[in-house]
Parts: sequence; C-alpha cells; structure tokens
Amino acid sequence: MAREIAACDGHNRAKPDSQCVAAIKRCPGGCDICQFLGGPDELRIEVAGPDEWAPVTRVPIDENNLNGYKGDRAKHTGIINRMYKFNWYLCHEQGWDDVLASTIVHESMHSCASVNMPGIADYKLHPPPGCSAEELENVCAGK
Ligand SMILES: [Zn+2]
Repeated sequence: MAREIAACDGHNRAKPDSQCVAAIKRCPGGCDICQFLGGPDELRIEVAGPDEWAPVTRVPIDENNLNGYKGDRAKHTGIINRMYKFNWYLCHEQGWDDVLASTIVHESMHSCASVNMPGIADYKLHPPPGCSAEELENVCAGK
C-alpha cells in the first residue's frame, strides 16, 4: 500500500507520473523513496511492544497535527544503521492500514538522508515551506 501511495514501479523506482515522489524530489534532501519500499535498501522496520506506546488516534488536522493523527506512529532508532520502530497498534489493529502505509512513506522520506543529505525533515525542524515530511505525506496521501 505504501508502494501504491508513492506510485512505485516493479523495480523500486517511482513511475514517471508519481505526484508523490515528484513533490519529494522538488525539496532539498528529497529522493525517490521507492528505493526504500522494496528491494535491497528496503526500510528496516521493527514493531514496538503493545504496552510500549499508546494507540494512535485520529484528530482534526491543525498546525500541531498536520496529518490528523495524534500519538507516536514511528520513530527511528540507531544512527548509522537506521531502523524504524512502529507503533504496535498501527501494525495489528484493524482499520489502520492507510495510516500505516502513510507512515511508511513518511519514514522513507527521512531515509533520503542516506542518498541526499540531509533528507526530508519533520516540520518541527523547520525545513523549507511545503517540504516537511508531514506536508509531503499529505501530498502523497492526496489530502
Ligand atoms: Zn518524521
């Protein structure tokens, strides 16, 4: 599903008409995230324990919740070998497939750092307007 959002082809590259990857690549630090959505460079993911993080909730989109989700969806761990840890509920509870896919797309943007420093940053780090992982995630999700 993350591959669909990003419009990846069968070779882990974005299709030429991918609006999502086009938007990401227009930003400094952007890259073709399809390389992280399959193949040898696929995102390395682990899942938090069920009691580790509270469930994510859906909330209205505002400046504090740019994607309309509240709670920890995922965090990256490790510096050299980046791993991403995901909220247990996103992976195991029904009805969160869309959020899980969108979160995978989001974390993939951070992984652009491995091919184009500094990668795509979160909104709180003040990237150029329209170029935060949250804003680009909304572009990709068609929000
Ligand atoms: Zn992020």
